[in-house]
Amino acid sequence: QHNLFSALRAAFPSDLDSTAVETTAADGTPLYYTWRDLDRASARIANLLASLKLPEGSRVAVQVEKSVEAMALYLATLRAGYVFLPLNTAYQSAEIEYFIGNAEPAVVVCSPGNFGWVSKIAFTLGTQHVFTLGDDRTGSLLDRAAHHSDEHQAVARSADDLAAILYTSGTTGRSKGAMLTHGNMLSNAVMLKDYWGWKKGDVLIHALPIFHVHGLFVAIHGALINGSKMIWMAKFDPKAVIAAMPRATVFMGVPTLYVRMLAEPGLTKEAVKNMRLFIAGSAPLLIETFKEWQQRTGHTILERYGMSETIMLTSNPYSADKRYQGQDERRGGTVGFPLPGVSLRVQGDDGKDLPVGEIGGIQVKGPNVFKGYWRMPEKTAEEFTKDGYFKTGDVGKVDERGYVHIVGRSKDLIISGGYNVYPAEIEGYINEMPGVAESALVGVPHPDFGEVGVAVVIAKPGAQLDADAIVAQLKSQLANFKIPKKCFVVAELPRNTMGKVQKNLLRDQYKGLFA
Ligand code: ATP
Ligand code: MG
Repeated sequence: QHNLFSALRAAFPSDLDSTAVETTAADGTPLYYTWRDLDRASARIANLLASLKLPEGSRVAVQVEKSVEAMALYLATLRAGYVFLPLNTAYQSAEIEYFIGNAEPAVVVCSPGNFGWVSKIAFTLGTQHVFTLGDDRTGSLLDRAAHHSDEHQAVARSADDLAAILYTSGTTGRSKGAMLTHGNMLSNAVMLKDYWGWKKGDVLIHALPIFHVHGLFVAIHGALINGSKMIWMAKFDPKAVIAAMPRATVFMGVPTLYVRMLAEPGLTKEAVKNMRLFIAGSAPLLIETFKEWQQRTGHTILERYGMSETIMLTSNPYSADKRYQGQDERRGGTVGFPLPGVSLRVQGDDGKDLPVGEIGGIQVKGPNVFKGYWRMPEKTAEEFTKDGYFKTGDVGKVDERGYVHIVGRSKDLIISGGYNVYPAEIEGYINEMPGVAESALVGVPHPDFGEVGVAVVIAKPGAQLDADAIVAQLKSQLANFKIPKKCFVVAELPRNTMGKVQKNLLRDQYKGLFA
């Protein structure tokens, strides 16, 4: 029996009446869910799904606000042996039409307020069942589930059976559906429990969205497989997270969440006294954030790297890593070592492995690597090498100590006059300049050089920046082909909901500059 739910269920503490999730209702009332509540709620929904007699492999597409019941729906889908397909709550009709048309789910669950337009799209595209689920325990899903038994035997699944389709964040183009199996997720969860030193008594602050790999898999699986309580927040609020820290031990966040907490005077050594571990990922953590966090809290953020297609791939060490001479340093600006079971290599465009320190395409293999892109066999074939490695689309290197560095995405690489320009390198120099909060370097077409870099820079609050002075300063530091031909100081960078900078939008905006 390889059903991921069964493994998570087996890790529930023996006292099923202890608290599994602590949260607050919209009106501020505290709400507590026991482990038994999670078990029963997911059993009822699993029985409801079973009663629908859906075909094998049916997708359950879910676009609802974050709630504990939404997590129960995820667990129920696993339990009933169907395929969970979460959708970003920001998506509107054009996007929902694309995803439902592409995934052809048998069941769609949406927010009560969206039922009108979502059900219209879903029924038109052939979905049989549309339920609603509100973030206040309202909606037809729970109403219907209430008539079903609160006991359910998890459906047997093999490690290779699909458990979820996760659409990628769409940072570099249209989202692709990554098909993940029960085995992909369970192997990753079990390995991370050990690598990150999860222990009895750990409590996780869960403040991430649950339609993405970080909040749905890394965070939820991490807590559940350790039988750990979660302090569950529907939305990220820096003050609320800091206020919860004395009762928690682990926090996971995308880099922007750390930046927002650093802006809070309440973030002090005293406030984090009970915390064991801060984990960051989904986008690069600026070295400045890493250092400031260290100074303010005495904690070193552990940065890790992963993606929808593979769940977690690399991580800075939590404690001494025997595979790497017992190194235990969490190094800012790196994403750490390939996780146990993951083989990682860096290749050049010629398909040959590159030596230590050289920059190329990052490729990976392991039990965590997905089965392929949903209904995109050609794209899937393109992204795997002959010997079975997945091409991540990220560009980076492995240093002499074994730490992996990411320098950008292959789609964001700039080739200027035949030379490779790695955005992360130039951004690093710009970010170090006084008054700079952050920056993004993108390539735009140029008649002479093919492509040139354009720097987009954000000032720190109150700071005045001179775009020409930034370029002049870079000229004194770097080779000419790396120097952005133009620099703009703007109010903010376009980001998607995971806090990732959408460089494709910047490229679009500036593509006509030299053309
Ligand atoms: P799409 O594939 O649709 O363009 P996406 O790649 O942003 O979107 P995800 O699967 O959510 O979708 O994100 C994975 C990507 O996030 C990785 O390929 C990598 O580029 C980036 N990433 C994740 N963690 C880190 C990190 N610690 N440092 C730098 N980049 C990271
Ligand atoms: Mg991607």
